[in-house]
Amino acid sequence: MNSSSFKDGHVTSDYSSDNLCTWCDGCGNYGALGATKRALVELGLAPHQVLLCFDVGCHGNMSDKMLGYRFHGLHGRVISLASGAALANPDIPVLAFGGDGACFSEGVGHLVHAVRSNYNITFVLHNNANYGLTTGQASALTPRGEKMNTAPQGSVEETINSMDFVFSLKPTFVARTFSGDIRQMTDVLKAAVNHRGFSYVDVLQACPTYNKFATHEYLLEKCYDANAEGHDSSNFEVARKIAVDTSERIATGVLYQNKESVPFLDRIEARKGIKTRLVDEVETVDVSELIKIFT
Ligand code: SF4
Repeated sequence: MNSSSFKDGHVTSDYSSDNLCTWCDGCGNYGALGATKRALVELGLAPHQVLLCFDVGCHGNMSDKMLGYRFHGLHGRVISLASGAALANPDIPVLAFGGDGACFSEGVGHLVHAVRSNYNITFVLHNNANYGLTTGQASALTPRGEKMNTAPQGSVEETINSMDFVFSLKPTFVARTFSGDIRQMTDVLKAAVNHRGFSYVDVLQACPTYNKFATHEYLLEKCYDANAEGHDSSNFEVARKIAVDTSERIATGVLYQNKESVPFLDRIEARKGIKTRLVDEVETVDVSELIKIFT
């Protein structure tokens, strides 16, 4: 049994498909892929016991690089499709993977309502501060003034402070990690999957091809493990402060967790005491007589 095996004998290679990765050399997606597989194995989950949902973007190519139940959805819509799946079958852990481009522009509304609804999913933000797949366009998280392919003289739009934005929505779980620290990312992902409610995991990723401002070396130097320095992750205000202020150092680890979190389905009074899942309650209804009325 190797170091990536878990109690009933599965190993990370159980999650590996035959497809080769085609990301650029040094891309942070390699670290994210490795940490995701390790986290699932260490959680004791076999590929048939988890749902992995992918948005469109460079990271989305993970959808055929690993095994498991996978769904590669439309651009910006990964949070909504993952939330729907988790509501239908709450017995299976659901992870949603999306980039900063899609999730803070096209899909930002889904992010807002998933956080406030506290849907029971883990959302992994592949945050390389640009649209890599479409060759280096500025995203809503690109620092204003950075020269990108869509803004050769510098991006003119204000940057969304993603952590301030997420904390304004009263989240129940917020973590940040770095694609170069696979051990920490693995632990963060495990904590996120075990959380009951919406887990927001910001993965700061190197994109050596298009992001020249937050390189692997820059992130390596700036990131620190807040949990190792004694950060109390139950303190919302302190968590928000260290999450938002990245001027000197970047806090990583589980920054905030409400351990009393009650996910969406458990908040609904009408479902109390019901043993079936929504997916069990789907019925086939003959509507042919109804259709005749309109034909
Ligand atoms: Fe990775 Fe950036 Fe290359 Fe996309 S463009 S594969 S995000 S390095």
